Amino acid sequence: MQKNFIFLDRDGVINEDLYDYVTSPKDFKFIKGSLQAIVNLTSAGYEIIVATNQACIGSGIATARQIKEVNEFMEKEVVKGGGKIKKIFVCPHKQNAGCGCRKPEIGLLAQAEKELQQNLKGIYFIGDKESDVQAALSFGCVPLLVLTGYGSSARKKVNFPKKVKTFADLRSAVEYITGK
Ligand SMILES: [Mg+2]
Ligand SMILES: [Zn+2]
Repeated sequence: MQKNFIFLDRDGVINEDLYDYVTSPKDFKFIKGSLQAIVNLTSAGYEIIVATNQACIGSGIATARQIKEVNEFMEKEVVKGGGKIKKIFVCPHKQNAGCGCRKPEIGLLAQAEKELQQNLKGIYFIGDKESDVQAALSFGCVPLLVLTGYGSSARKKVNFPKKVKTFADLRSAVEYITGK
């Protein structure tokens, strides 16, 4: 099967955004239908790359190890369901730190392209924030907005690009992508 790549944001797309940080596996709750959506993407031949801002590390709210544990929990649950996450890229820096990887900057996407040795231009990027949409557009990906997490408020912003397709949640975005 031909492999396609796809970027997913984490909080508000895969798991419930607590509007605070998810610093422990017990706080990680899959949004309804998202785990199955990831499994379906895997079955459809997609290699899933997660790109997530975790300023909680840089601001001292959580350690890099704690965030790694949360991500490993997510990956294990996905594997249990029959899916796979290829790789997770994390920006650990705090807001306004001037790093090149915190979305809307494109550093995480460029890092993924380099590490996976794949051209990732033109692939889908599913996110719930304007910063996801902006990073996707700047890098040359196709942004899809989900209305979970911060998605519905992002779409209401006056400068939100009208051409960006929006979906109720990851499940319906994946149905659109896979055609089922
Ligand atoms: Mg998010
Ligand atoms: Zn960063």
